[in-house]
Formats: sequence, C-alpha cells, structure tokens
Amino acid sequence: MSFFLGFSEEEKLLQETVRQFAADHLAPKIEKLDEEEGFNRDAFRVLGELGLLGITVPEKDGGAGLGAVAATLAFEEIAAVDASTALSFLAHSILCVNQIAVNANDEQKKKYLPKLISGEWLSGMGMTEPGAGSDALGMRTKATKSADGKSYALNGTKTFITNGPVGEVFYCYAKTGEGKKDISTFLVDRSMKGFSTGKKFSKMGMRASPTSELVFDNVVVDASARVGNEGDSLRMMMRNLDLERVTIAGISLGIARGAMDAAVAYARDRKQFDKPIASLGVIQERIAEASAWYDACRALTYQCAKMWDEGKLVGKEASAMAAKAKLTSAQMATKVGLECIQILGGYGYIREFPVERFMRDAKLIEIGAGTNEILRLIIARQILGDAANG
Ligand SMILES: Cc1cc2nc3c(=O)[nH]c(=O)nc-3n(C[C@H](O)[C@H](O)[C@H](O)COP(=O)(O)OP(=O)(O)OC[C@H]3O[C@@H](n4cnc5c(N)ncnc54)[C@H](O)[C@@H]3O)c2cc1C
Repeated sequence: MSFFLGFSEEEKLLQETVRQFAADHLAPKIEKLDEEEGFNRDAFRVLGELGLLGITVPEKDGGAGLGAVAATLAFEEIAAVDASTALSFLAHSILCVNQIAVNANDEQKKKYLPKLISGEWLSGMGMTEPGAGSDALGMRTKATKSADGKSYALNGTKTFITNGPVGEVFYCYAKTGEGKKDISTFLVDRSMKGFSTGKKFSKMGMRASPTSELVFDNVVVDASARVGNEGDSLRMMMRNLDLERVTIAGISLGIARGAMDAAVAYARDRKQFDKPIASLGVIQERIAEASAWYDACRALTYQCAKMWDEGKLVGKEASAMAAKAKLTSAQMATKVGLECIQILGGYGYIREFPVERFMRDAKLIEIGAGTNEILRLIIARQILGDAANG
C-alpha cells in the first residue's frame, strides 16, 4: 500500500530501512514487553546507530537532516509493528531533540545533541500537569529566578510524560511570571537535586512506552539551561505541538495498517461453512472501508507533512491542518482496530493475536497531543473566525 506518491528516493530508502529494523528488533519482543509493561531500550541504541534519533536535526548539528515526511514515515513503519516504541521514539526525537535543534543555543546543542542522537541518552517533554491538560496554559510549575539572576528554582509536577521513567533529559515548560503566557523552557537532567520521576503509570495501551510524572522539588537549574528568552516559549511550544500532531498521525496510520494486515491474512485463511470468511460480504465490506479510510488519512497526513517540509504550513492554517491530520487518523485507527477484532472473532479478543493490542494502542492517539475535542475546536475556530467565540 503506497497511496501517497510524493516520497523522494531518500524517503523510500528510509522506509525500507525502518521496516527492516522493525522486523528484526521490534517484532520478536513487543508481545512480551506489552504484557509486562517493559521497554525496548536496545531498539533505541539501534535507532541511534541508524542515525534516526535526530531525524529532523540538520546535518550540521549531527542529525539526519530529514523532515516531517521522513519522521512520519518512520513512525508509521514502526507503529505497524510496535506502536509503543513509535510513541517513545516520537517523544524523544520530535518533542525534545527537534526542539533543542530548533530553539536552543549552540552551547546547549553541543551539550545535549550528540548523546541524544547517538541514543546514549533518552529524553521526553514535560508540558501536561495534573491540573492542566487540555488547558496547557493553566500550568502551575513555577521557575523562580535567583536574586543574582544566575539560576532558577523549579517547583511543580508534570504528569503523563512519555519516557519519564527512562529518560535522562527533559524539555520542560514552566511559568516565569503570573500571566497565562509567561512560559519559559528549561532543560532538566535526571541527575539534578530535587528532581524525581514519580510513579510509573500502568496503562490500557502503549504499555511498552513508559509514562510517569516529573516532580520538581526546588530543583535549582542554571540559567544556561533556559532555552530561548524568559517568558518567550509559547510560540515554540505551539509550533512543536503542530509538528507533533502531523507526525503522530503516522503512528495511527501504522497501527491501522498493522491491524489490517493481520485481519486480511486471517480472513484469507479462516474457513467457516467450508469457505474462507474472506468470501463473505460483511468481511469484504469491513476490509474495503478500513482500506479506504486508511488511504484517505494517509494522503492527508503526508500532504500536511510535505507542506510542513516545504515551509507552506504556517500560522493558524498549520494548526488546523495538523489537527485535521491527527483527528482523522486517530479516529480511523481506533475504528479499524475494532473492526479488525470483529473480523478475527474470538481470536481477535485474545492476546495471542496482535489486533487487540493495536486497538488499545490506537485509543491513546485520540487523547495525547490534543484530544479529539480540542482538535475540533482548533479546526472550527480557523473556519469560523471570530464568530466561533460568539
Ligand atoms: C500515554 C500518554 C502519554 C502522554 N505523553 C505526554 C508527554 O510526553 N508530554 C506531555 O506534556 N503530555 C503528555 N500526555 C498528556 C496528554 O497530552 C493529555 O492527557 C491531553 O492533552 C489531555 O489532557 P488531560 O488528560 O488532562 O484531559 P482533560 O484536559 O482534563 O480533558 C478531559 C476531557 O474533557 C475534554 N475537554 C477539556 N477541555 C475541553 C474543551 N474546552 N472543550 C471540549 N472538551 C474539552 C477533553 O477533550 C477530554 O475528553 C500524555 C498522555 C498520555 C495518556
């Protein structure tokens, strides 16, 4: 299946490489890791060797110098086998590493990028808080500047942070003023005094992508760990959310494809009433619908990613387009996951077959990086303008 025709030779080669990586390093392990809520740390060392942990980082900064299309392709290929590793890879490469490459100064890049790109260090991003999810600007984690201006004391708690239990570095947002928009960014190391990662959450899906709180108990951070100017992070945070939404749609595409591949193979093989169930109209209808919606979402997602790479996706239109790619792909993947379970009947409901895992993993993308409801608001406001506010 390759509906989108705009891939470069380099992107097609990347797709093949990542497909092989997933078959060799993820497929043999994911069932057990999902069961035990483990983490495939070794996969990140290999991704580092392949040069993919800094997939969107310019070559001059040690990255692969690729863009949103390449990242989305990589996430799709990985998620078709193991969506958990795709999610942890995205949190590392798009939410932290890409942000450092785009927003940090040369000294910060030199300190963090080599180890993050080689896979020696893992990372994540801390925005969500127990009392501030969809309303991200309601965050309460505070960074208080010292009298001499040389450091900040961080206090507060972030929650639901992907790679929290396994990361060494976190790209964290905190308030440096009383206003909703007074948000600054700090690079926090696991080794800093007063920093801890709280409890690891036990989850319905994405069970091999560890999630936890980040707790800041008077963590003293040197002013040199602040990214950008004080109080100036809102625009960077929102821009990265748009990139996250485009590329995370790749995870939904991969999940849907993985579930469909399993269901199609099963439908060809499974006989009832002396005929393969693939000959039944109701099964064909399910497979046809799933394939059509997958292709539609894939076309939209890669078109958005391509526009991003060409610098054509900016401002409110970028936010609305990214929201559309994620909203449609995420809902499609959950629906396809459920339909594929139905195709497998009882075998779809038990853990020896991967489709129930794909469905559990799919649901997360309807929540993380902006819930369906928030994405609909973004799209509606872009279409309706001021009238949307009454
Ligand atoms: C597995 C996992 C990994 C995650 N990884 C990260 C991470 O790495 N970093 C990070 O910062 N965050 C992360 N998140 C957090 C995620 O982005 C939030 O869960 C999400 O933004 C929703 O916030 P919330 O859970 O507080 O829900 P709430 O905001 O409390 O929403 C609850 C419900 O109310 C609805 N709602 C809220 N406001 C409105 C409104 N104005 N209009 C209509 N409906 C509304 C929501 O759509 C939802 O249905 C992760 C979450 C999960 C589950």
